[in-house]
Amino acid sequence: MKFGGTSVEDSAAFRNVTRIVKSASRQRMVVVVSAIGGFTNALLASVEKAIDGDARAATRSLDQDFERHLAIAQQLLWEDVRSHFESEIADARGQIGELHKIVAAHPSTQAPLRDEIVAFGELLSSQLLAAVLRENGLATRYVDARRLIKTDESYGGAVPLAETATATQAELVPLIEAGEIPVVGGFIASTAKGATTTLGRGGSDYSAAIVGAALGAREIQIWTDVSGVLTADPRVVPAARTIPVLSYQEAAELAYFGANVLHPKTIQPAMDRKIPVRVCNSRLPREAGTLIVTESEAAPQTIKAIAHKSGITTVQITSARMLGAYGFLRALFEVFDRHRTAVDVVTTSEVSVSLSLDNPSALPEVIPDLEKLGAVEVEADRTIVSVVGEGLRGTPGIAARVFSTISDINVSMISVGASSVNLTFMVDDARARETIVRLHRAYFEDEVAQATAIMAAEEVVA
Ligand code: ADP
Ligand code: ASP
Ligand code: MG
Repeated sequence: MKFGGTSVEDSAAFRNVTRIVKSASRQRMVVVVSAIGGFTNALLASVEKAIDGDARAATRSLDQDFERHLAIAQQLLWEDVRSHFESEIADARGQIGELHKIVAAHPSTQAPLRDEIVAFGELLSSQLLAAVLRENGLATRYVDARRLIKTDESYGGAVPLAETATATQAELVPLIEAGEIPVVGGFIASTAKGATTTLGRGGSDYSAAIVGAALGAREIQIWTDVSGVLTADPRVVPAARTIPVLSYQEAAELAYFGANVLHPKTIQPAMDRKIPVRVCNSRLPREAGTLIVTESEAAPQTIKAIAHKSGITTVQITSARMLGAYGFLRALFEVFDRHRTAVDVVTTSEVSVSLSLDNPSALPEVIPDLEKLGAVEVEADRTIVSVVGEGLRGTPGIAARVFSTISDINVSMISVGASSVNLTFMVDDARARETIVRLHRAYFEDEVAQATAIMAAEEVVA
């Protein structure tokens, strides 16, 4: 059972979690928990302050967050346990202060130190939750996640190594068999040498999937602040509603293309071991949420959800040399490889290639290399929109219906069929909201609009 940051943001949230864990406590389980809401952001911001040179201001900027932990302890823990946790907080503050000083003095060593500092979010939340659950009669045991998840040295986005499974089993199985409930922090891990790493923002979901897969769990539960995976991002479409069942592939595509209710890497470990993933609301635990399994039925209108990712940069390379030539694409991708820049969506024509980048920070170095291959055009502030549904590739009329719904909005980089479950395209950030709202209305809200759109699409197809 994994609880996200908003599920542990204050003492009321901790009480909810306690109720949820208690009601499942006849089963054997492991609890994975994120840093308390907002603390990871604050820790990262504190590192930036230290890099700017003011270590004391960096440490002081976290005082409010330490107070939030203490307030939760104050409200939920008895004297002895509370004073133990208070000394953990004082200790953490001291260690973070020392790390800030090192960062301020040597800003160039920041990547490993940043992970070391950020990890305190999950280290503290997991100790606090273990204590709160124990006071409520549950036989919990705090376990340092860095003993379970072993990664390479890619700080900030580390990749788990194969020995993770055996390490996790060796640490957790004896505890579980003794009737204890291990409580571990998500997101954090360590290298073979013992240096602290993190799995990338939102990575606690991934931790839960890794631990669940290592133990062959019957289910991986992601408890968050919405009732499952919804038909669209609820911050853009308030009318978005819960999707009862998704296939692994549908869920993975939604997560890749911006549905941040699930970290994009969460699905793979679950899929490898065919473990169902359930996404539930920690504030409304009775709501059914979403179940993610191997296969799901196609929705009547095929489309199950709309995901989006804004702030994308696209790059177009045009060269007549590409016509009929081989080796061009290899040379092109080698440029991105060399500059360690990940490419998301790719579309090509005979003489041009368009690609999208999530993180354009290396572009100033990438562009001169690309210009050796052809003319380069860069566009920032773009949004990838992805409509997802099992059976999409084989269903006629989907593209016609999607594009007739937004016929006055300029779209580019259309990609369909690369995956059998999604249709992806790019619009300007400025028109993204409107695009998503209109597609959602056509597919999920308005019966009349649905009928009209189907007719329009049929006309186009005919
Ligand atoms: P947690 O702290 O529990 O990990 P996150 O903030 O990482 O929670 O993820 C949950 C949030 O993801 C929701 O509050 C919602 O705003 C956002 N979200 C974006 N797209 C979707 C979607 N399709 N379904 C559900 N939530 C979504
Ligand atoms: N606390 C980490 C973050 O905010 C990991 C997570 O919440 O999943 O990114
Ligand atoms: Mg999350």
